[in-house]
Amino acid sequence: MGIVVQKYGGSSLSDADAIKRVARRITDAKKAGNDVVVAVSAMGDSTDELLDLAAQVSPLPPARELDMLLTAGERISMALVAMAISDLGFTARSFTGSQAGVITDDVHGKAKILDVTPGRIRSAIEEGHIVIVAGFQGVSQQTKEITTLGRGGTDTTAVALAAALEADVCEIYTDVDGVFTADPRIVPTARKLDRVTYEEMLELAASGAKVLHLRSVEYARRHNIPIHVRSSFSTLEGTTVTGSINDPEFDEGPEGTMEAPIIAGVAHDRSEAKITVVGVPDKVGEAAAIFNALADAQINLDMIVQNVSAAATNLTDISFTLPHTDGQTAMTTLAGLRDQIGFENLLYDDKIGKVSLIGAGMRSHPGISAKFFTALAEAGVNIGMISTSEIRISVIVDQDDVDRAVQGAHTAFDLDADEVEAVVYGGTGR
Ligand code: ADP
Ligand code: ASP
Ligand code: MG
Repeated sequence: MGIVVQKYGGSSLSDADAIKRVARRITDAKKAGNDVVVAVSAMGDSTDELLDLAAQVSPLPPARELDMLLTAGERISMALVAMAISDLGFTARSFTGSQAGVITDDVHGKAKILDVTPGRIRSAIEEGHIVIVAGFQGVSQQTKEITTLGRGGTDTTAVALAAALEADVCEIYTDVDGVFTADPRIVPTARKLDRVTYEEMLELAASGAKVLHLRSVEYARRHNIPIHVRSSFSTLEGTTVTGSINDPEFDEGPEGTMEAPIIAGVAHDRSEAKITVVGVPDKVGEAAAIFNALADAQINLDMIVQNVSAAATNLTDISFTLPHTDGQTAMTTLAGLRDQIGFENLLYDDKIGKVSLIGAGMRSHPGISAKFFTALAEAGVNIGMISTSEIRISVIVDQDDVDRAVQGAHTAFDLDADEVEAVVYGGTGR
């Protein structure tokens, strides 16, 4: 038997009983003859609670100190899980990300894993221990500072460990039975996908399906590690993320038929905000100045729209979306450019939501956008912005319309299950 890498999310570690339950699952894998390495998240909503606490102390806490604070959450669970395992008669060793050899770049709050040097993990395994690693954190190669990987980052810790330890598969245990055609909290009739390709899962994750951290899917694809997403509350088989949209099952057969489903799912995201730079002079270099400044501030943008300039004024508006957590930094950065660029005003709107339709089959099936927009119209949802990729169509809508938009699109593309099969076992959805 080889090495099994498992990840347990905060919703699976909400209290002492949950920790004991997880410890039993971990020791079951060890009893089956495997070497077991586990990445754990902070308990329940404790990362959010730490963030709330920080906000009460300071409106814009220094990023270094925020990372110091947040990494404490995962340290608590790793030690408690190790204790619960030892109570079951097995030995466990817990390690912080830094001790486990998770080496990152130096960007606090959204560090990238550069390398994993799992020397201490391997020694602990050789000594017969179960290894528990604090997820979502690492240490910067350059600055030696402690970093975090961004919200949901324990998935990425797990996949990076699986790659470094050459595990056959990375098991992600969460509070639903796998990856569904939509968030089961919004669409109870969502269907579980048995398999989804890396590309589709990348788009789902990038579009807000927080069941997997985007970086974890990128990492898994690069290292060709299958991810098995499943529930820590049931023994059902989950969803395997593996394979590519270039596999033969996506080839069109006679009359445009295809073995694989056309649409993988509908994702939504309420975590973005929209900034509009009003009255930008329509001349060469203005957009470059705006977006270079945002890039220098390490802000990742999503959709960008530039309107046609009004002929009378030769002024244009540029709108873009970004994570709302970067909203304040972006507004401050842009305000500093006002005189240089000469724009008129800055508008900020965080009452938006993004709804995305994802599926490899849309490459070969015309009319998908028309059907999507019709479904939104029938649900009474107004579209603010649109963007597309090869296998995705996204729209920005009013935040209050997100649920209706997701449900409408899900039904329009025949994704509803006949009987409700989606169970949400835990978590608060926060
Ligand atoms: P964990 O604490 O295990 O990391 P998360 O809350 O990060 O769990 O992710 C699991 C949640 O992701 C589910 O409870 C569900 O509400 C949400 N989710 C969003 N989209 C999907 C989807 N397409 N399939 C499954 N779950 C989804
Ligand atoms: N605890 C972190 C978070 O809540 C990381 C994770 O759960 O994956 O985002
Ligand atoms: Mg998560």
